[in-house]
Amino acid sequence: MKKAFVTKQQIEEITKKYPTPFHIYDEKGIVENARAVYKAFSWNKGFREYFAVKATPNPVIMQLLMKEGCGFDCSSITELMLSKAVGASGSQIMFSSNDTPAEEYQYAQEIGATINLDDITHIEFLEETIGELPETISCRFNPGGLFKMSNGIMDNPGDSKYGMTQGQMFDAYRMLMKKGVKHFGIHAFLASNTVTNEYYPMLAGQLFELAVRLHKETGADIRFINLSGGVGIPYQPDQEGNDIAAIGEGVRKQYEKILTPEGMGDVAIYTEMGRFMLGPYGALVTKAIHEKHIYKEYIGVDACAVNLMRPAMYGAYHHITVLGKENAPCDHVYDVTGSLCENNDKFAIDRKLPRIEMGDYLFIHDTGAHGFSMGYNYNGKLWSAELLLRKNGETELIRRAETPRDYFATFDCLPVYQKLDQIMKERNM
Ligand SMILES: *Cc1c(COP(=O)(O)O)cnc(C)c1O
Repeated sequence: MKKAFVTKQQIEEITKKYPTPFHIYDEKGIVENARAVYKAFSWNKGFREYFAVKATPNPVIMQLLMKEGCGFDCSSITELMLSKAVGASGSQIMFSSNDTPAEEYQYAQEIGATINLDDITHIEFLEETIGELPETISCRFNPGGLFKMSNGIMDNPGDSKYGMTQGQMFDAYRMLMKKGVKHFGIHAFLASNTVTNEYYPMLAGQLFELAVRLHKETGADIRFINLSGGVGIPYQPDQEGNDIAAIGEGVRKQYEKILTPEGMGDVAIYTEMGRFMLGPYGALVTKAIHEKHIYKEYIGVDACAVNLMRPAMYGAYHHITVLGKENAPCDHVYDVTGSLCENNDKFAIDRKLPRIEMGDYLFIHDTGAHGFSMGYNYNGKLWSAELLLRKNGETELIRRAETPRDYFATFDCLPVYQKLDQIMKERNM
């Protein structure tokens, strides 16, 4: 059973000030979960979660996580700038990029972020770009083939563009050591949204074994192992979520089995979770504005795929609660749609829901990660606001909604912009 973290009454209050649609985040849920993550890995002295900024690039959210001890994982210059601006520096920032432009490496180096190289050819590229290499560098590993778990979850690293082959990892370490790099990290991301406690321990086992071999064969000083993201959340109401305590314990067992006996018991464990840190603690709140009866029953809402792309892009399931009708029978079947001129703009297809009346608020669950941040401006649709529900029950605007003025701003030297400016002024925008 999925439960909304706000009530209809709360949303009625909030919408007096902030009209729908908006994403709302739950401070209490975010903080409690972050603490559970740190507790699960408290056995590892150097543990740090580098929150994947791309999941929810909002400074207020980032500061909440920073207060809980998190750093930031970035893969673009704007994410680096944002991390720096919220107060992170040096070892609190991981730069796990790929296909990286030179100026992004330059900036990462300038702010002292830990660089995680996606490819062996980037060693020379980095050297040409920044001159002397930093003391600490991480390399991203791709084992190729298939990655299978006992519950049937499978991913296909051999088909993914990231990371280096095993042979390249050894070559890269040797090259980097020759060039004066002193400390090393290993990183891998092998499967997405895994809803099983098995993923991290399995990945950790592979990386720990690789670390032992790399250390033995190249003499490299391995300081950290970065398990990256991929820990999932139960989007479906009947799915059981991950137990982070069990995951931490599973990683500990592998650590003690593989690393400790090799005298590598001081290696730090890093994670770069996005979805698990934020996913369940955000929701898209939208209002039913139209109902349509043709070959199927449609409910049109005031949000659309630009506010939440996952259903349109991957057919992803996002649970919907009709606020105020939490206990009503789900005896209607609807497609819930947005207004884009794209037929995939549907938040739900053939979904059993209570009877929806115009003006009802729909709480679309689990949009806290890869929700707002995957937005776009197709059809001239604007980005929504983001709100934070504080622990004390108050609501704070943490990003205002985009306006037509924002949307047109990049045209600014065209005569058309002057006309647009006039139109907006006439409409008090
Ligand atoms: C996207 C990404 C993450 C976060 O993934 P989640 O599945 O949201 O936990 C972490 N690291 C890297 C390099 C990524 O690209």
